Amino acid sequence: MVLPEVTSQFRKRPYHRQKAHLILYALRSRARDERVTLVSLDNYRELAGVEGLSHAITPTTRPMLKLAHSLNLELEPLRGFCSTSADWESYVHGKKPKLEDFYRQSRRRLDLLMNAGEPAGGAWNFDAENRVPPPKEGIGVESHWIPQEDDLDVEVRAELDELERTGVRFLGNDGPRQFAASAKEASAALEHFLEHRLDLFGPYEDAMDYRDWTMSHSLLSVPMNLGLLDPIEVVKKAESAFRAGKARLSSVEGFIRQIAGWRDYVFHLYWHFGEEYTKHNYLEADEQLPEWLSNADPEQLEAKCLSDAVSNVRDYGWAHHIQRLMVLGNHALQRGYNPQQTNDWFIDAFVDGTSWVMPANVIGMTLYADGGAMSTKPYAAGGAYINRMSNYCSDCPFDPKKRLGEDACPFTAGYWNFMNKNQEKLKGNFRMSNALSSLRRLSDVGEVVAQEAKRNSF
Ligand SMILES: Cc1cc2nc3c(=O)[nH]c(=O)nc-3n(C[C@H](O)[C@H](O)[C@H](O)COP(=O)(O)OP(=O)(O)OC[C@H]3O[C@@H](n4cnc5c(N)ncnc54)[C@H](O)[C@@H]3O)c2cc1C
Ligand code: SF4
Repeated sequence: MVLPEVTSQFRKRPYHRQKAHLILYALRSRARDERVTLVSLDNYRELAGVEGLSHAITPTTRPMLKLAHSLNLELEPLRGFCSTSADWESYVHGKKPKLEDFYRQSRRRLDLLMNAGEPAGGAWNFDAENRVPPPKEGIGVESHWIPQEDDLDVEVRAELDELERTGVRFLGNDGPRQFAASAKEASAALEHFLEHRLDLFGPYEDAMDYRDWTMSHSLLSVPMNLGLLDPIEVVKKAESAFRAGKARLSSVEGFIRQIAGWRDYVFHLYWHFGEEYTKHNYLEADEQLPEWLSNADPEQLEAKCLSDAVSNVRDYGWAHHIQRLMVLGNHALQRGYNPQQTNDWFIDAFVDGTSWVMPANVIGMTLYADGGAMSTKPYAAGGAYINRMSNYCSDCPFDPKKRLGEDACPFTAGYWNFMNKNQEKLKGNFRMSNALSSLRRLSDVGEVVAQEAKRNSF
């Protein structure tokens, strides 16, 4: 087996330093298997010169698929997901995709959390039990699994230092490795999560606490996206933990939904929506990303929620789902950042960022740039949501209840500013009708808009 290592990729875009580390570590640890040869190339097209190359595992992105075709490689079945393209086709044929239907089909097909054809516990989801704010004393969950660095980390770190000396620019800080980057490590990280953290995954899935950057999340997106951990094994083992009485159903269902549901769903949507999808810009959002965001630099930020999420990106190349969607994403949506730039930033800055995972998550779900193909309404929210689900606001100079004044919360004011700006585009959407009626009843909307037009720091 041949594994191509192409470090010139790091010259094309500013990768997070820890992401580059994880990629090189994963490739080189895999190459310790005697059946594998690591080949260092200047670009992927040089694979044409590798003797005897005949097959490739079906690539997960368009450029790599085109490359495999151009090299006349025979394709082995896709790996790394809970469903195949045939499963997707049998689900979608002609209808508008919907996560819930796709997820239920996957549960039935994989016989996951099913009892005689019915969902375990008599319901398909337990979301009502899974939206608990962070308790004052913290969630009290055991730390995430942390790898023991070894000689390969030292080798990779030296190589990345050398690349920096030759002018390659990485994003974010280096730091002790936090994520599994070999198959052995991935398996240990999974077992640790199942044993110590899965049970609390559900209740605190959406909660944010500035004292705890990982909460009860699994940190398994990295090894799954690097192809080191089979998601079917992950969901099957999570189910076994429930059947063995080690984790509550609401947590296990919520976790399985993220993987067999959302993760596969966004992968199939990458292909389903086509190559032009990332060019959509329904809300005509054309603001450039501010430097503090593109450089992942929280130093000048006063807004506690933004500063915490950007610090996590700088320090770990990771923030959890609600920080991505409801803090960073919500901010980008409200401030009208250009969708393509935002999409690229998420790919570069996150250790688990890939070109297949991002379009549906960023162009669709987060920025509503596809005009509703992915989500039925924009995920815009004011400070009240962040205040409910976090402990940020009590430690912030802004007031989540205020939309006007020096201490007006940039999310609360930003929400009304966003609604006002986009009301024409949103007025045909019945799920926005309450919000638009509230907008019409606001007496100070003109002042809010004028105030937000002048805001140049957060
Ligand atoms: C704006 C935005 C950007 C995102 N960028 C990425 C990304 O670059 N890479 C990535 O893998 N996920 C991404 N996600 C999805 C999700 O936020 C991450 O998968 C998750 O935070 C990773 O941490 P974890 O492994 O601890 O996840 P957990 O909270 O433990 O969840 C378990 C697993 O579910 C899967 N998952 C859950 N939601 C999604 C989703 N919406 N899309 C894909 N997989 C999902 C992941 O594989 C994750 O490991 C993004 C979501 C948003 C809204
Ligand atoms: S007050 Fe507003 S800006 Fe400050 S932490 Fe709360 S939501 Fe964020």
